[in-house]
Amino acid sequence: MKNLYACVLFALGLISCNQQNYADADAKSFAELIDTANVVLLDVRTPSEFAEGHIAGAINIDQASDDFIDKVKANIPIDKHLAVYCKAGVRSARSSKRLADQGYECTNLLGGIISWKESGRPVIVGNYEVDTFTSSSGKTLKFYALMHSCIRIQYDSLEIEIDPVAQLGNRVVDYSAMPQADYIFVTHEHGDHYDAASIEKLSKDSTQLITNQRCADMYGSGIAMNNGDKLQLANYFAVEAVPAYNTTESREMFHPKGRDNGYILTIDSVRIYIAGDTEDIPEMESIKNIDIAFLPCNQPYTMTPKQLVNAAKIIKPKVLFPYHYGQTNVSEIPSLLQSENIDVRIRHYE
Ligand code: ZN
Ligand code: ZN
Repeated sequence: MKNLYACVLFALGLISCNQQNYADADAKSFAELIDTANVVLLDVRTPSEFAEGHIAGAINIDQASDDFIDKVKANIPIDKHLAVYCKAGVRSARSSKRLADQGYECTNLLGGIISWKESGRPVIVGNYEVDTFTSSSGKTLKFYALMHSCIRIQYDSLEIEIDPVAQLGNRVVDYSAMPQADYIFVTHEHGDHYDAASIEKLSKDSTQLITNQRCADMYGSGIAMNNGDKLQLANYFAVEAVPAYNTTESREMFHPKGRDNGYILTIDSVRIYIAGDTEDIPEMESIKNIDIAFLPCNQPYTMTPKQLVNAAKIIKPKVLFPYHYGQTNVSEIPSLLQSENIDVRIRHYE
């Protein structure tokens, strides 16, 4: 009779041997957790899923492998807190339960790496931070923070490179490990933006190189755009060249007015402003409806953080990546723009 009573309660779910023995966290709490000491970040997806993009600092042990538990035990001390994630949160929930049964304290990322990306957090692909956006037609747009002013953009299967440069000081970008580009944009001739060898490496027969006049002359080919020029590259892809220049007295010679370009790319209705080397110039007043902006931040060549904040308040992008910032401290920019409702993302664009 007693057993029957227990069975009824069990069936009703009032007692259960499946009681959750781990914690759940949304992306924000998960990010805070993995920043604390004694936490090990565990990606339980397959190695190929891991290679396509993972959270920085994660170790990868596939939960589907026969010796999953043994591998975790061999690699992670039992007193560590495990922050566990997968693609959408199902495999990680199951893994968290299994690991908690073994005595680990576990926190599961609800919604997996999908919710992580949707919350505006980067993943690592190769050596680079990658931010993912979804266009209105449901296609994926990825931004790889290569370095300084070098940005790789992936839209659907299209490869776009901005100011590709292979080496700056001791930082290098290995373009030979990346697909060749469908489009290459160069803002101006300086060595941190224009590198003929990288353009060559990234070029295939169908590659379109778009530059200012000086770089087209230097490279010996390419489509030259002047400030104000517009081009329709495909039915879903348009570009406008916009001014980029210095205004501070005695610095105009770095980037004289009319010579260099910034670009506004419109890809599947997503508007991306790549400012190039510029200060907060009056022409920014007419740069509108920007979804994603890249603004430079290193005087004497471009802007101070204060100028960048001013430029951002004029342009009002939805998402802002300070880039081209070198040694400038950009850490206060997010709080300075909080009231503007601009999502400022600091990535490794030193
Ligand atoms: Zn420059
Ligand atoms: Zn520069």
